Amino acid sequence: MNTRALDILKQQFGYSEFRDQQADIINSICSGQHTLVLMPTGGGKSLCYQIPALLLDGCAIVVSPLIALMEDQVTALKQNGVRAAYLNSSLSFDEVKMTEQAVCSGKIDILYVAPERLIQPYTLQLLQQIKISLFAIDEAHCVSQWGHDFRSDYLQLEQLASLFPAVPRIALTATADKHTREDIINRLSLSEGNQFVSGFDRPNIQYRIHQKENARNQLLRFIKNEHWQNTHHDCGIVYCLSRKRVESTALWLQSKGVNALPYHAGLPINLRSTHQQRFLREDNVVMVATVAFGMGIDKPDVRFVAHLDLPKSLEGYYQETGRAGRDGLAATAWMVYGVQDVISLRRMLDSSQASEEFKRIERYKLDSMLGLCEVSSCRRQTLLRYFGDTLEKPCGNCDTCLNPPPTFEATVVSQKALSTIYRTGQRFGVNHLTSVLLGKVTDKVEQFSHQELSVFGIGKELTESQWRSVYRQLIARRFINVDISGYGALQLDNSCRSLLRGDDSISLRLEAEEVETVKKTKRSNIKPVKDKALWNELRALRKTLADELDVPAYVVFSDATLMDMLDRHPLTDEQMLAVNGVGENKLERFGKPFIEFFEQANDSASTVDAVAINQQEILSLCLANMTVTDIATQRNLSEQAIYKSLASSIASGTLSLSQAIDLTEPEVAEITDALLMSEDLNEARFNFAQVSSTLEGAYPQGIIRCVREHLLKTTA
Ligand code: ADP
Ligand code: ZN
Repeated sequence: MNTRALDILKQQFGYSEFRDQQADIINSICSGQHTLVLMPTGGGKSLCYQIPALLLDGCAIVVSPLIALMEDQVTALKQNGVRAAYLNSSLSFDEVKMTEQAVCSGKIDILYVAPERLIQPYTLQLLQQIKISLFAIDEAHCVSQWGHDFRSDYLQLEQLASLFPAVPRIALTATADKHTREDIINRLSLSEGNQFVSGFDRPNIQYRIHQKENARNQLLRFIKNEHWQNTHHDCGIVYCLSRKRVESTALWLQSKGVNALPYHAGLPINLRSTHQQRFLREDNVVMVATVAFGMGIDKPDVRFVAHLDLPKSLEGYYQETGRAGRDGLAATAWMVYGVQDVISLRRMLDSSQASEEFKRIERYKLDSMLGLCEVSSCRRQTLLRYFGDTLEKPCGNCDTCLNPPPTFEATVVSQKALSTIYRTGQRFGVNHLTSVLLGKVTDKVEQFSHQELSVFGIGKELTESQWRSVYRQLIARRFINVDISGYGALQLDNSCRSLLRGDDSISLRLEAEEVETVKKTKRSNIKPVKDKALWNELRALRKTLADELDVPAYVVFSDATLMDMLDRHPLTDEQMLAVNGVGENKLERFGKPFIEFFEQANDSASTVDAVAINQQEILSLCLANMTVTDIATQRNLSEQAIYKSLASSIASGTLSLSQAIDLTEPEVAEITDALLMSEDLNEARFNFAQVSSTLEGAYPQGIIRCVREHLLKTTA
């Protein structure tokens, strides 16, 4: 059996070996055992049922919750030469009939079915007439009410065990916790089968959690610094808690030139599916969404997931961040959070109609989430521990590992923070308390005569944001309660007494002064793309082929496959087959255009460097309103080179700054200020790095260069 499975892996899917437990799982299901698979996102669950579907007699039935994605999954399988089809409500009556006929006459090996359709008596009867090889229940955690994606249709899958006792069932999920696991086993009657639990670590994801200051600007800086290189912008997801915030954030990002789209359940269904489709098909869309978006999205090349609001639980956080980097290449999970997040989540929870028990569980979950935000040790270890997994050593790929936050002996500081709550009558929120500590005479301070209090101005040793951080940490540790019914006033918890008396001591994370230090992050497992221009052309070729077939780009080849190709420069069929992810079917379909591509690339390799920069031409493209990115792509040059050319046009007076680049007045002012602070603007002695760091890396050097020329010109 094993050799046949391996043959299929190679020929049909183009991979040379099984990962981790894949082979054992395939063996289990092929020997007729029920099987539960817990594997992190991107681990390779699909092959665990697709290969048995091809090995066993009959048709495999795959239950999958998201209609919109079935089509792409089936298209991808067909590209690999697999006889696959789907049944869901998007099909016309005739299409349904045709598919049913194909299934009944044994022409389909894998049939995807939406759960609500599967449980209809008509469908169940139909299935009883054919030979079924296996049932695969994808996203199996949807059967559990404990989890966050509960679907009542999934509950009815209970019937499969009694209706089809002889057919093996394989349930797959990436959700880890124990309750959900038990629910799946009970509901789907899997107790007599095998369980395969893989480690939950996603080593290629870098976890980072920052203190919230100006969330949007922080987000923009993160995207621009790390996912906005030369001619290529990455694809990512930004999660917000409310629909309103989704829309305003998407609009704002668009105004800054990011290809952002909103997604939430309140948008018209057509618009929602257009946006989802664009996200899947294009490779530089940033989806701004509520958590309604993402389940079952198996786009492999999502390079970052950003949270602008705190998720309600670590389960949610882990699942949402897990949508990044399914292809195994480096990806970032980035989040900002502040006290207000905790207050609004606690308020939502307390005002909900749910039972006390439910609220208690939710409170525990929220506290665990806060715990992750406030740890000063490795984030990954904390996360994995929560899911019952252990990581021996700190991971080296999270913010606390890369940039260990200093902690400090904070007993006195905490006493000051707590006393200020007490002295002001336990009626005020963090902002006012901080004003009192810093001795700021605000309207509110005057209104309540708080400048008379003994605590007024006793906290000048810390900054405003550091005080906020102290309060947040004391809330996270439950020394302080938030009065949810009364506008988020902070109140003392009984547990703080020993701290106030000085019987206990406490140490806290010391928040760095800067909002966010731009780190040169270690991307251990990602190889830098050696040849950016060629890489972009390769992606463009993939996009053309994908558009012709009307499928997402990754259905043609994944990023990982393209990277391997770029390394190997395959010029023959044989060399092409050696590329990871190229099987015989893909070779037949797409081999030729890619081999021709590399033949040409080899021919012109020597001439690429010689492409002259035609100053005049770039100037006219710019005056025709093309962006720097577009000009760079069209002329196959780096953005840096385009900016240089534009800067010299500014210097010679043929181009104005506003014609050259899109900057708001405050942005120009900000850059100008930074330039004026630098020691010398003269070309020979000018220090770009210094100005760039004054601006915290918020602008590419090219932009700084243009503003500098403008400044020199206007002040000359
Ligand atoms: P999951 O459903 O667990 O999130 P997928 O089944 O979508 O993950 O697989 C993630 C990626 O890994 C896909 O691009 C898939 O083709 C690739 N993959 C799966 N198994 C292997 C393997 N044995 N070798 C190489 N790549 C694999
Ligand atoms: Zn770590």
